[in-house]
Amino acid sequence: MKCKKCGATAVINMRQHKLALCQDCYLEWVPERVQRTIEKSHMFSPNERVMVAVSGGKDSLSLWDILLRLGYEADGLYIKVGVLDGDYSEISQRKVEQFAAARGAHFDVVDLAAECGLTVPQVARLKRGRSICSTCGLVKRHEMNRVACDGDYAALATGHNLDDEAAVLFQNALNWATGYLARQAPVLPASHPRLARKVKPLIRLYEREMAAYALLRGIDYIYQECPYAKGATTLFYKDLLNQLEERSPGAKQRFYLSFLQARREGRLLPAAARDVDLGECTRCGQPTTAPGLCAFCRLWDTKKKH
Ligand code: AMP
Ligand code: ZN
Repeated sequence: MKCKKCGATAVINMRQHKLALCQDCYLEWVPERVQRTIEKSHMFSPNERVMVAVSGGKDSLSLWDILLRLGYEADGLYIKVGVLDGDYSEISQRKVEQFAAARGAHFDVVDLAAECGLTVPQVARLKRGRSICSTCGLVKRHEMNRVACDGDYAALATGHNLDDEAAVLFQNALNWATGYLARQAPVLPASHPRLARKVKPLIRLYEREMAAYALLRGIDYIYQECPYAKGATTLFYKDLLNQLEERSPGAKQRFYLSFLQARREGRLLPAAARDVDLGECTRCGQPTTAPGLCAFCRLWDTKKKH
């Protein structure tokens, strides 16, 4: 198969785009697609500083690589949640360090055990009925937001790709979880002084496309899933959507992008579903819908009761 742009031997065929590209053209095409997404959704401008949340996985490291290649001032943030099985956290942190060192890029590390006294698996075990994965998500969201606000970053970028977003959309649609559907957006504005703008520049790229990008760029990332495999249900939905995609190339993208369009045009949800009243946590000052302490601060209170 030949590259549609230059006629050289293609390394990837994307049936969903009816596009085959050689290595050089592919490595140009990906950042162009990300740049268009950033502009179309008004994520951030060239003179704004961006914080990229990096897990050591292929998506977030590739995102960081792409933003640096596009000339953005992008710093990294690694949150060490303390997953010790197979040294998962140690290995992923090392991938981030190596990536940053090779590019002379700056990144911060939040070490949860050092700051709060417990790792995520430890604090989750103390709180009955709370899964490790939901605790990990809560902690990461809180800490990412804190560091992005304290560092005066214009936006906080995560490496969610189209497959991640389509799987979440599928799950939310199955449950008609209107609150979650209302908040599932490529950009969440900073609707409070202590809330960072959240952006997902990879939403127009398939997981397979990101894996190909990381491979062709020689980005060394952590291959393993987290041993607590949040993934069981998300991975199952991804698999279902891939079966659909196999039968009908582009179905995954149509499902997600037409949702975004309907959302933009207000065809999806009443405005009321989007508006939530935000107060401030009496301990950390971050916005919360709960009275008194935010969910993150309540987590550490649990520790003291036991
Ligand atoms: P996940 O929920 O693990 O699929 O991760 C989604 C996104 O969150 C990743 O693409 C990263 O941008 C970010 N992320 C996940 N884990 C971490 C971490 N330990 N530190 C910083 N960012 C993270
Ligand atoms: Zn708080």
